[in-house]
Amino acid sequence: MGLLAISDLAGFGDQEDHAVPPAHYEVLTGSEAACADGWERVVEADRARALAWIGAAVVKLRAYDGSQGATRKALETHFHATAPWFAKVIAWHLDKLQAVAPLANYLCRDASSGPCAPGGGLTGRLNEGLKSGGIAWAMWCLPFFRIRICPGYFTSDSEWRVRALVHEWSHKYLCMLDVGYADQPGYESHSSFRNFFNADSWSMLVYELQ
Ligand SMILES: [Zn+2]
Repeated sequence: MGLLAISDLAGFGDQEDHAVPPAHYEVLTGSEAACADGWERVVEADRARALAWIGAAVVKLRAYDGSQGATRKALETHFHATAPWFAKVIAWHLDKLQAVAPLANYLCRDASSGPCAPGGGLTGRLNEGLKSGGIAWAMWCLPFFRIRICPGYFTSDSEWRVRALVHEWSHKYLCMLDVGYADQPGYESHSSFRNFFNADSWSMLVYELQ
């Protein structure tokens, strides 16, 4: 059903020749202390970068004929599937994601409760973000629910933040699940089927093909 919704919204695409309009940013009432001045500019810049990463990944995946080593390696690592037709399927989804992701809006909130509390959202497993709770969170498969930006987002490095946005967008618009974080044990042995439906596989592929 998520894919149908994406097809319906695909007419919003065609952004190659146009600047992406800014998203809407809001602070949850009571979370002002956790959302420093300028937080929305940080997310806005990360958002632009995430869209550019996806665009670059789409170009590489569409051009892939099996012989491009870096693309092949990224597909093998994150999907265990390296056929050109499979790369085209991934590119098709990422192209739709790039078209609809600019529609996402963002709500900054503290980590006292809810999805930003420790264990609630995407956590910064590789950095200090873990200590301050989640980085970001999106309601699964609900396009119009604002993405939560957590305190851990702002203590994460920029590449991690961009990866986090792609990860959350893949939950929100591609309806992908959390069935294997790339930096957790066992990730490398998951099936292609499992990885296809795994948000972190998508964000890691984009990260490596940027
Ligand atoms: Zn997730």
